[in-house]
Amino acid sequence: MDSTGGFAELKFRDPQRGKALAAEAARLARAIGRDPIALMHVCGSHEQAIARFGLRASFPPEVDLIMGPGCPVCVTDQPEVDEAVALAMSGVRVATYGDMLRVPGTAQSLGDAQAEGARVDVVYSFSQAMDLARSTRDEVVFFATGFETTAVATAAAILDPDRPANLSILSAHKYILPAMEIVAEVPGTRIEGFLGAGHAATITGWGLFEPFARKYGRPVVIAGFEPLDILAALVKLLELVQDGRAEVANMYPRCVTKEGNRRAQEQLWRVFETTGGEWRGIAYVPDGNLRIREEFAAADARRRFAIDTSAQRSAAPAALVKECLCGAILSGLAAPHDCPLFGKECVPDRPVGACMVSSEGACKIWYQYGGRPDLTALPALQESAG
Ligand code: SF4
Repeated sequence: MDSTGGFAELKFRDPQRGKALAAEAARLARAIGRDPIALMHVCGSHEQAIARFGLRASFPPEVDLIMGPGCPVCVTDQPEVDEAVALAMSGVRVATYGDMLRVPGTAQSLGDAQAEGARVDVVYSFSQAMDLARSTRDEVVFFATGFETTAVATAAAILDPDRPANLSILSAHKYILPAMEIVAEVPGTRIEGFLGAGHAATITGWGLFEPFARKYGRPVVIAGFEPLDILAALVKLLELVQDGRAEVANMYPRCVTKEGNRRAQEQLWRVFETTGGEWRGIAYVPDGNLRIREEFAAADARRRFAIDTSAQRSAAPAALVKECLCGAILSGLAAPHDCPLFGKECVPDRPVGACMVSSEGACKIWYQYGGRPDLTALPALQESAG
């Protein structure tokens, strides 16, 4: 048995292994003896994999694996969108990822601004934004979103000596660990343990979570994105919960080390520093936002332009936005089905809230793939897992 409990050599799509893991999870859940056992993952890619592969049908019925604040598009706050809209409406060319076009600001999205004639370009990478800036003399602002995994690419681009002088960055990058602390500190929280995002941990290393696990008395298990990765990580997390061990386990050892990617970390922290900021619908998260350091002011759109969002912020918000439960969903306090607008007034083609926009948003994922399965409809699977 190795340090990962024997799961290092996972074969990714092995049904027998999947059934064995589901059976072990069921055994552990029964041994823990609580219902529900609330666990949280903090990654839209995990929610996608869980929903797409119907994994919740193989989870023990006692386990409630909730998606937390793991969708960077969803947590981009309205004032940040307002800044991008204000820049676009003032004649600056704004480049951003496709998901960001429909994320609502106070009154308008970037898509609305585009419809009114503002120049908003969808790009798939920062290097495409660089190409765009090279092709024009106009000022181009890249509206950058994402957690530390994506922020590393932004940092590398800012450090690139060939970055065009007419390209700057409006950073809406976020840092996930402080948001996990907010969730762990919510009074009366039911969360007993966390699944950590494997791709973020490739950068930060799993060691980053050790002080968190100790401070909040909850285990963290780093998980990959294949169905068996997630099931194996769930088994490990249930083991730690059963034993009352607030430790970190790495169940994604083929990609994640304790130290992480040191060079990427150096670039990240050379360019960015943490600052507090609102995460949409969740809370003010101290140290949750990544802002560009003064040394790179020329690359920082907030320092380069006097961004006036008064027109956006004084406009009346859309009426339905007030009913959006996105913040509660991202905090683990509600599920998409709890929202009265889910699948009715709010659908991917007509999203009311950011959680229905992004491919990493819980509402869009549940709309596409279904959310909690009706386990009573799957007696054979329950029996095989038992
Ligand atoms: S279904 Fe739409 S309105 Fe409801 S919480 Fe999700 S994003 Fe918000």
